Amino acid sequence: MRSAGKDKSVVVIGAGLGGMSAAIMLARKDFKVTLLEKNQHVGGKLNQLQVAGFSFDLGPSIFTLPQFFRPVFEGDGKRLEDYIRLQRLDPQWRNFFEDGMVLDLWEDAEMMRTELARFGPHVYDEYAEFLAYSRRQYEIVENGYLNEGLDTFRQFLRFYGWRDARDLDYMRSMSGSIYKRISNRYLRDVFEYFIKYVGSSAMESPAFMNLMPNIQMEYGLWYVAGGLYELARAYRRRLEETGVDVRLGHEVVQIERIGQRVIGVQAKDATGAMVAIKADYVVSNMEVIPAMKKLLGAPAGVMKKLKRFGPACSGIVVHLGLDRVYPQLAHHNFFYSKDLHRHFRRVFRNKQLPDDPTLYVVAPTRTDRTQAPEGCDNIKILPHIPPIDEQNPYTREDYVALKEVCIDKLERMGLKDLRKHIVVEDFWTPLDIEARYASNRGSIYGVICDRTRNFAFKAPKQSTEFSNLFFVGGSVNPGAGMPMVALSGQHVARMIAKQAEAEA
Ligand SMILES: Cc1cc2nc3c(=O)[nH]c(=O)nc-3n(C[C@H](O)[C@H](O)[C@H](O)COP(=O)(O)OP(=O)(O)OC[C@H]3O[C@@H](n4cnc5c(N)ncnc54)[C@H](O)[C@@H]3O)c2cc1C
Repeated sequence: MRSAGKDKSVVVIGAGLGGMSAAIMLARKDFKVTLLEKNQHVGGKLNQLQVAGFSFDLGPSIFTLPQFFRPVFEGDGKRLEDYIRLQRLDPQWRNFFEDGMVLDLWEDAEMMRTELARFGPHVYDEYAEFLAYSRRQYEIVENGYLNEGLDTFRQFLRFYGWRDARDLDYMRSMSGSIYKRISNRYLRDVFEYFIKYVGSSAMESPAFMNLMPNIQMEYGLWYVAGGLYELARAYRRRLEETGVDVRLGHEVVQIERIGQRVIGVQAKDATGAMVAIKADYVVSNMEVIPAMKKLLGAPAGVMKKLKRFGPACSGIVVHLGLDRVYPQLAHHNFFYSKDLHRHFRRVFRNKQLPDDPTLYVVAPTRTDRTQAPEGCDNIKILPHIPPIDEQNPYTREDYVALKEVCIDKLERMGLKDLRKHIVVEDFWTPLDIEARYASNRGSIYGVICDRTRNFAFKAPKQSTEFSNLFFVGGSVNPGAGMPMVALSGQHVARMIAKQAEAEA
């Protein structure tokens, strides 16, 4: 049988996990694939800094849903485990509250029952019922949205019908459904902060986003041995094995088109020379809004239609090498705002920097001693903050001031004299994130999840303007987070193969 990609070429713009997943799957269908990446490394936000014996994962630190990566690595006698070694973490999160309460979130049900027993017997029952509800939300969303790659509300209705969608919790906000089901104030904060995976507000997101706890509890929370960047190295190997032509230091500056079709790209290489590459299909791992604006010069009318796919939150990202270890930290920790709803309102509605941020703190040496020298520690601090607002921008000094607020908070909540123990520091602002990865206004997680603006849908994977232009990554369905962007790459490879067959 003739293979879908025979004699057909594809240019992929960007070597994030979305772009690389698409490139590998297309090469396996015999397309001739060229992958152009502006930076000198593959992985996009999955990035690494090694300095003075410390190894910092600059981007993602939590690996979930390994099954969504398997198709990229498996199918020709290989297994995902031939490329990376996964370690399951439990407790999954340690949660610190301003009143001194510390609560661990365990995958192990008996450990969780014991953890919650101090609040009274009904609290575990509420927790278990909430997980059953979370599982149901996940199952519905997985069936169509994730497995079939649904892209529009119309496709959604056609797949599910009104009857099947009945169990989907879409009338309330995520917070509303948590408050209805959970009476314990600490657990409420923990479940609401699952929205961190998509950089949005639990008060603005539809309730079916409560599917997220099920992802961790049903399929585990994992560490990639040696650091998350090992996943980028694994992808690099897979690109080589599948024959993808990878060109680093190549920034695409224009997508060429004729009428309703794109015909290739113009890229600038590391020496500044222009390179033109023709292609039958173009896949952009650059987010939809910046790509349409900068690479295609889309008119105002098109940009207006895309407005509802505005950016998720950005962040300041602080990596610290410490000359001591704080034993109270687990691998993944959250230090909550005193009033989480005030925090959500301030960051997501009022677009202000937080004055009492919720902090995600990662300490990978709890699992992997290779990440810091003996007796030292390596921590990442990540508060969520508004994306860059060009009309009313924050300055680097504002972000530095916020970093000091974060360190004050951690010192107040138990990391005594943290400042004094810093021996290495690396600091990213939204301006750095935007410049390095070309993300929309420094977004970390693609498109905002907002029930009034987009009902948690992201942009469609196939361009509505050009029939042979496709998008992958956090700005298209099913959205951000490593497993989701890997899935978008696989769906786009299938869509292109189908189109190529139809056009043959
Ligand atoms: C600090 C931080 C923490 C995170 N934590 C987690 C986590 O714990 N778990 C999780 O699952 N996810 C996490 N995420 C989110 C996750 O990193 C992203 O959702 C995912 O990696 C995005 O992949 P992507 O393919 O959409 O794009 P990206 O990783 O952004 O890759 C896009 C690539 O395209 C390149 N590019 C863009 N424009 C051009 C152009 N014109 N020419 C050539 N190349 C171009 C960029 O340089 C980049 O390499 C985190 C992100 C950050 C920043």
